Amino acid sequence: MSGTAHAELFAPPSESAGLKNLVGLSREALEAEITACGEPAFRARQLWQWIYSKGVTEFGAMTSLSKAFRARLEEHFVVRRPEVVQDLTSSDGTRKWLLRFSDGQEVETVYIPEDDRGTLCVSSQVGCTLTCKFCHTGTQRLVRNLSPAEIISQIMLARDALGEWPSTRLDRKITNVVMMGMGEPLYNYDNVATALKIAMDGEGVAISKRKITLSTSGVVPEMERCGRELGVNLAVSLHAVDDDTRDKIMPINKKYPLKQLLQTCRDYPGTSNARRITFEYVMLKGVNDSPEDARALIKLLKDIPAKVNLIPFNPWPGSFFECSSNNAIHRFAQILNDGQLSAPVRATRGEDILAACGQLKSESERKRKSERT
Ligand code: SF4
Repeated sequence: MSGTAHAELFAPPSESAGLKNLVGLSREALEAEITACGEPAFRARQLWQWIYSKGVTEFGAMTSLSKAFRARLEEHFVVRRPEVVQDLTSSDGTRKWLLRFSDGQEVETVYIPEDDRGTLCVSSQVGCTLTCKFCHTGTQRLVRNLSPAEIISQIMLARDALGEWPSTRLDRKITNVVMMGMGEPLYNYDNVATALKIAMDGEGVAISKRKITLSTSGVVPEMERCGRELGVNLAVSLHAVDDDTRDKIMPINKKYPLKQLLQTCRDYPGTSNARRITFEYVMLKGVNDSPEDARALIKLLKDIPAKVNLIPFNPWPGSFFECSSNNAIHRFAQILNDGQLSAPVRATRGEDILAACGQLKSESERKRKSERT
C-alpha cells in the first residue's frame, strides 16, 4: 500500500465543530487563518512565536497582541494539548506519557535522559499496520494516522512537563527527537513532514534537523523524499542480515527486500561519514545473534556510512522471542567493532514503567475494557 493510500484510509478525524486548534498548522496555513480574520500577516508570525517558541496556550497571556485581536482569537481558536492519561517516571529517569486525543485514541511518548543528551521518542500513528514480530505495537491494529497537531503536540507537552519553555533556553533537556514511537512514520509521511517542519523552525520549537532522527522499517518509496525534503537523520530497523530471516520477523521485507532497502540507504541524501545512517538491530536469541550474522552484517553495510545500534530485546507478555545472552550481545558487538563498525549496545531503559513500545497503551485499553464489563 502506498503512503498516500494509507493517508486516506487512516486519516485523523477532522476538527470537530467549534474552536479550531491552531497547533499543527504550517506557517502558511496559520497566516491564511489570521489574514482571513482581517489581521495583517505579520500577526501570524507573532502568534507563531507565542505558540511554538514560548509555549503559551492562553491567548490572554500573549501580551504583544492587541486586546481586540486576542478577543477575536478566543472566539475562533484554541491552542490545544492532548490529555495526559498517565505520566510515569522510571527509577532511571525515563519518563513515559500516555496521551489521549479528542476522539479517545491513545499513544505513548517517551523521554530518555542520558549524560550528554535528552531524547524524546515520538509516535506517528495509533497502532501500526506492520507486524514486526518482536514489536509490541505490531500486535495492535492500525487505528489511524496522527495529525500534524497530534505529532508536534507530543514535543510541546513534553516541554510543558519538563518546564523548558521558551525554546531559546540554553539548558533545554530535550536535545534530540526520534520518530521511533508507535507507528511507521513513512506511512504517514505528509503529517509527519508538516510536524517536523514546525519542530525544525528556528523561530519556534527550534530543534535542528541534525538532532532529529526518523526511524523506518524500510518503506523504500518514501525514504529518498524524506531525506531530500526534511534532511533529518535516518534510522533503519534492520534486525536481520538475510531475506529469509527478515521476511519472518519483519514482513515488510517481502515487499522491499534487503538489496533494495540497502541501495536506498546508499542513496539517502546527505549521508556521509559525519552523518551516518543508524541501523537498529534487536538481539534475538538464536534468531539473528550468531558470529556469522555479525560478519554478514559487516559485509552488508561495508559501503554505507553506518553505525549499528544493538538493542537487547525487551520481552512483553505474549512475545515469543528471548533476548540474546549478554555474552552473545558483547561478542556480536566486538565482531562489528573489529570490522570498523561502531556498534553501541543500547542500555535497557524504563523497565519498571512498561517500557516496551505500545505496552502502556495496551494496558490502558485492557483496563478500560474491564471497567466496561
Ligand atoms: S517496529 Fe515499528 S513498524 Fe514494526 S510493528 Fe513496531 S511500530 Fe510498526
